[in-house]
Order: sequence, then structure tokens, then C-alpha cells
Amino acid sequence: MPSGKAHLRIELLLLAVWSALGAYLILEGWVTWPAVAIFGACYVASIALLSPDLDLVGSRPFKRWGPLRVLWWPYAAVFRHRKLSHQWFFGPLTRVGYVLAWVVVVGIAVGGVGAHDFRIRLPNKEVLAAIALGLYLPNMTHIAADAIQTAAKHGGHGRRR
Ligand SMILES: [Zn+2]
Repeated sequence: MPSGKAHLRIELLLLAVWSALGAYLILEGWVTWPAVAIFGACYVASIALLSPDLDLVGSRPFKRWGPLRVLWWPYAAVFRHRKLSHQWFFGPLTRVGYVLAWVVVVGIAVGGVGAHDFRIRLPNKEVLAAIALGLYLPNMTHIAADAIQTAAKHGGHGRRR
């Protein structure tokens, strides 16, 4: 697999491309600037904290969590490297769901969170799309980079799922 550093570089490079595209779309009046800002924030959070390589204890994204990395041990134990965690659709869902599960567990443990505190109001479609794109694009980039490297290693005949 490409190193954590390589993944980060590729994803940040593409962020520059997406930002330019976002700026263009704002100027054309197709999207609003808050949506692009939300996209950027989710994109950065996704590459920094929700990398598919959280399925590997000791990977760069794993260490990035600092003392909180212990929270990812169960995830790395359950998800085999480059299997479901690297699935383009379900991969990000497993990690977002995993983080939310911890938030709920900690919330209940602290005792301040009861059922009545969960009043979820869905944001509008543009914001939802911005969040989804921000979370998914880096994951797709990561998976594509993994696949390209695997293919290159096997002389262009690399098979992957
Ligand atoms: Zn990977």
C-alpha cells in the first residue's frame, strides 16, 4: 500500500483541485460558499481522522489520534486490512458509525446524555451532499491509490477486489 504520507499528499493535492472547482461553482452561483466550506472541513476531517488505514494498528492515521488511538483498537481488531474498511461505500460508513457509537457510549457513561437530548434535525440537501462528498472523496482517492499501486506491483495484472 502507498505509505500514509503518500496518501496524505495525494489527498491534499486533490483538495486543491476540488477547492478550485468549488470556487468556480460559487462564482457561477451553483453552490453556496457555506456548502463548500462544510465540504472542505469534512474532507480534512476525513483524511486526518477517518482514513481507511485505521484498520491497521500503528498506521499513521491510527497514531494521529494520539492518546485516543486506543479507541480504534477494537476497530482494527474487527476490520481486516483492506477488506470492508476499504470498500468505497461501506468503508466510510463503518468509521462514521464507529465514531458515533463511541460518542453515544461516552455520552451515556458521562451521564449527561439522555434520549431526550437527541433531537436530530437533518440539514438541507446541499449541506448533506457537501458532508457526504467531503467524507467520501478522500476515501475513494485512498482506495484508488491502493488499487493503482497494487496493479503496478503486479506488472499491470494485479487483481483486487
Ligand atoms: Zn489503505
